[in-house]
Parts: sequence; C-alpha cells; structure tokens
Amino acid sequence: MPRTLAALVIALVLVAPLFPFAAAAQTPATSLEKMAAAIGASDVRSIEIAGNGTIFAIGQNATPTTPWPRFNLKSFTRSVNYETASLRDDLVRTQALDPPRGGSQQPIRGEQRQIFAVSGDHAWNVVGEVNNPVPVALAERQIQIWITPHGLVKAAMARKATVRGRTITFDEPGRYRVKASVDVHNLPAMVEAVVPHPVLGDVAVEVHYLDYKEFGGVKFPTKIRQSAGGFPILDLAVTDVRPNGAVDIQVPDNVRSTPEPYVRVTAQMVADGVWFLSGGTHNSALIEMKDHLILVESPINDQRALAVLAEVKNLVPNKPIRYLVNSHHHFDHAGGVRAAAGEGITVITHEINRAFLERAISARASIQPDHLAKSGRTAKVEGVRDRRVLTDGTRTVEIRHIAGNLHHDGLIMVYLPKEKMIIEADAFTPPPPNAPPPAVANPFSVNLAENLKTQSLDVEQVLPLHGRIVPVAELHRAIGH
Ligand SMILES: [Zn+2]
Repeated sequence: MPRTLAALVIALVLVAPLFPFAAAAQTPATSLEKMAAAIGASDVRSIEIAGNGTIFAIGQNATPTTPWPRFNLKSFTRSVNYETASLRDDLVRTQALDPPRGGSQQPIRGEQRQIFAVSGDHAWNVVGEVNNPVPVALAERQIQIWITPHGLVKAAMARKATVRGRTITFDEPGRYRVKASVDVHNLPAMVEAVVPHPVLGDVAVEVHYLDYKEFGGVKFPTKIRQSAGGFPILDLAVTDVRPNGAVDIQVPDNVRSTPEPYVRVTAQMVADGVWFLSGGTHNSALIEMKDHLILVESPINDQRALAVLAEVKNLVPNKPIRYLVNSHHHFDHAGGVRAAAGEGITVITHEINRAFLERAISARASIQPDHLAKSGRTAKVEGVRDRRVLTDGTRTVEIRHIAGNLHHDGLIMVYLPKEKMIIEADAFTPPPPNAPPPAVANPFSVNLAENLKTQSLDVEQVLPLHGRIVPVAELHRAIGH
C-alpha cells in the first residue's frame, strides 16, 4: 500500500506540468505592475512601427470557406498615439494571387498605397487628397490600438483587468472583450479580442507576439501574427520601432462633419416599379411585385440597411419586402443581411453562400446587440445555383449565377428581361464618366460580358451595386470590345 501511494505521488509529480493550472502554480503569476515595468508602458505615449510581410483582406475571399485573399505587404508603418486614442496605418501592397481570386480591388496593378486611420470615434481612409469616413471600420481599428503590446497594458490598467496566473482579462462594455496571456518575462504573448461585426456578430481577433527585442529603450515583438474570423489577416516582420515620436493624427473636418455617411439614401425610379437606391459607396435596388417587394442588396452595416429599409417603406408603404437578394457574401455587400433578417425577410443568395449566411444570421452579437439581436427574429436563407425565376404573372425577375467569375465563385446578378437591365456587384464597376478605358481589361468584367453572351441576356442598362447606372456599351468599352 505505501508503495502504491508513493508511485501515485511520483506519477502526479510527473504529469503535473501537463496541466495548465499546475504549470501556472510553478511560474509566479504576473501582475499589471510587472507587465507595465517589463514593457515600459507608463513611459510610452506614442509608438511608430515599421515592417513588411503579408496582409490579407478580411471578408473578401472567393468562397466563404477559403482564407482571406493574400497580398504582399511591401511596406507597413503603424503610428499610434495612446493619449488621443489614434492610429494610422500607411501601407504599400501588391497583388500576390495569380490569377486574382476574391475582392479587395483585385487585380492590383503595380503597387497600391493604402492609409487607414482612426481617432476617438472617427475612422477614415485616405485616398490621395480625399479623406473618406468609414464608420463601419471603427471597432476593428479601435481594438488595434488596445491590442498593441503597450496599448494592451495601458487598457488593462485603465479597465482594472482581472489577473489569473499569466492570463489577464478585461472589457469595455459595448466595444470589446479582451483576454491576453503573458510570457515568463511578463510581456504580452497572445491577445484574443472580441469585437462587434456587421456580418459575423461577435468576431474574434487574435494576435501573437513573438521574438521581443529592445528598440530605443522599449521592448517590442519583431514578429506579429494576426487572424480574424478564423483566418490570417496580418503576418508582419517588424524592422523598426520608435517610441514617443510626434504622432499627431487629426480627424479631418469633412470626416468630423459626416459622422453618419451611411444614412443618406437617394432613390431614382429607373423603370415602372424599379428603383435604384444610391447615395453612398454601395447601392441597392428595389423591385415592386404585385403584392410584395424584392430588395437587391443590403450592404455595409445596420445603419445603412435600416436607412435603405426606411426608404423602401417610404417608396412603397403598403407592400412587405419578401426577399432580399444578396449578390455574394463579401462583407461590404452582406453587412446589412442581419438587419434584413431582423425584419424576417427571406434571403436569396448563391448556394455557395447559403450556409455562411445562415451562420451569420444565427451568430451572437453580445458586445453590441444589433437590429437582428434586438428583434428576436430569424429568417430563411435560400440558395440558387444557375438560375431562379421570381414572377407574379406580370413581372419576371431572374436571379442568375455569374459563372466562372474569379471575384467570387457564388456571385449572382439580377436580370430584368422586360426592362433589359442587369443588377450586378463587383463584376463591373463603371469608371468615372469620360475616363479612358483601362490599359488592361478587368478579368471580372470580361467574364461578366461573356456571361451576358452565353446566357443570351438582352441587356441595355447596367445597374451596378457600386457607382452609376450606365448603358451596357460602357461595359464593352471598358473591356475593349
Ligand atoms: Zn465582392
């Protein structure tokens, strides 16, 4: 008996390191003070980092189950001012996938510079001389400030984080939840944040910090790996870090004076019972049937979707919206699907997107409950393969697959045979009026023209879900036909 007991004790000692709680008991617990001292958090008011690597475009994959499309990240600088809660990313990316697969302005010709900024509760993109407000990106940019190694420690202290062993947790109600683990040197090793997302509800953003080195008196990781929604979004080799430089990120006047750019909806009747709903970066279309309505596309987010739904009610007060046609699952086009589901509207999409949108509709939105979460409703998602015809005896609406399009495997368009119109997203975005045709034809547009031909569609006008209505001749001109 004593021998058995001794064996048991030895066995327990041997297996103890396999259990995390036992391992934590051996390594002294961290504390916010130890973390702040290790990384120099209280002395760091701003930080600028430079590097290169690989970047991915979240929500722009060619099918809902493949990873986010990848781009070469030739240069990347991130500037953060913790005192003003501001961040600015300035990057140069190039096309990595050949042939192009997915969205995010593929195919990129040569180098493309992108500037993304956030300060306080304003988020914007800088394109040349123009500052475009992008409130839809606010949550994902704000969290980037507070999951940097120094930002993490600052936020943990400000929000009185709970420390258990080497794990810290804290949250900011309505904005994020954070759980982080700390290495034996009390430096942040892994951070998992949960933030609100228009398509995914609560979305997890995970970052791993590796190979810390000393830069100008502060420690900073030289490898950063991030994922979001289950796939990589950034793989960065850090080459330079500068603490406490002058980082002055000011909200541009036009961004400050346009806090809600998504609420403006302009309705234009383009045929009897057909409206084009524009006013921002993404359009929708409305089709009136005998006793119901069909909405084509509910993009961006709750705010845009609710503004579009309100305009629909205004245009046709006495008929319910029975269907929402979703062109494809890309997050900028599917950002208002949850809001439509909150109205009980049946969603029609390509079969490839069906399971994804079903999951999106049933996802929890606990950080910032949206229209769907508050409604307590749900909605059906119906999949289309090649073609589905909706008719009420007088009007025919054809939903058709844009087959073989490298932008997205499950891209659908709406064809109105009587009106000789198509409504499409991302296969063809008309250039500004009188712009010369591109030197190299966009392969997605070439594919759309092929589909119009092979499917024998009689089209006079294109209602694009980005940009202005154009005669179909503009599509042919853009591809050099
Ligand atoms: Zn797209």
